[in-house]
Amino acid sequence: MTEAGTYPIYRGRFAPSPTGPLHFGSLVAALGSFLQARAQGGEWWLRIEDIDPPREAPGARDTIPRQLEAHGLHWDGPVRYQSERLEHYAAALERLIDAGRVYACDCSRKHIAAATGHRGGPLHYPGWCRERGLAPDSGRALRLDTRGLEIAFDDALQGRQIVRLEAAGGDFVLRRSDGLFSYQLAVALDDAEQGMTEVVRGSDLLESTPRQIAIQQLLDRPTPRYVHLPVAVDAHGRKFSKANRAPALDPRRAGENLWLALRFLGHPPPDDLRRAEPATILDWARENWSLKSVPKTAAMEVAPDADPARE
Ligand code: GLU
Repeated sequence: MTEAGTYPIYRGRFAPSPTGPLHFGSLVAALGSFLQARAQGGEWWLRIEDIDPPREAPGARDTIPRQLEAHGLHWDGPVRYQSERLEHYAAALERLIDAGRVYACDCSRKHIAAATGHRGGPLHYPGWCRERGLAPDSGRALRLDTRGLEIAFDDALQGRQIVRLEAAGGDFVLRRSDGLFSYQLAVALDDAEQGMTEVVRGSDLLESTPRQIAIQQLLDRPTPRYVHLPVAVDAHGRKFSKANRAPALDPRRAGENLWLALRFLGHPPPDDLRRAEPATILDWARENWSLKSVPKTAAMEVAPDADPARE
């Protein structure tokens, strides 16, 4: 754990899951977090979130750093991998179990969806297994008991958030039934233990944030500040995502990709930079970056000329 007083002035990160190559939507998150760090003379780390091998795309863990480098987005220190921190996640989970905050659950997603009349969106789990006293055997998920947890925080773009976790999603998974640690647990610990002072990422993760803060609070870990950027959506309102088969960033068009991502983030560079090298555009961006210019909205359509799918 980072000792009090040893924090850098600013440390941020980009934390992609290696489920595929980066696309325009991921460039927006990478660039926003990079500029927010660099404009303040801060550190920017790259953390590959490889805790879900079944969802990993072959080669993505190598492609992602190469794509970032081609766009001039150089990180500090070595690339960090969540797969190297499994014992930390296990130790934190033990502490939560000892604190009586965790229970085993054998409800399948299918069962929860059917029994709660789920019609799309995130599942809500009302805690049916809380009092069953199931053993934490393999094949059972471990969930956090969210009763009484209310989290409030100020997002620099999306404003004040006050969330009662039991009502918003309910008891969530810390270790899955296949034995893998959950995204929520790993990210909450990494952001705290790696000394992140601010997390800048897409607004699609805004509803995860109170869960991550709850884990940090229950474990007496520090909580960073949060900035949730608008996510890029297409003309049909669909998020640019690997799941939607958004095209991979073309490194030969790195300068233009950056130019378009900056415009998306409310920082349209001068036209003559559209064909410039990444380093030149990033110099301009560092000089001109201000969170005040970033649209305070959760999602925004990309202009047709920035939509690589149109070709
Ligand atoms: N690994 C997550 C993703 O690729 C993002 C994690 C984060 O920024 O907190 O969606």
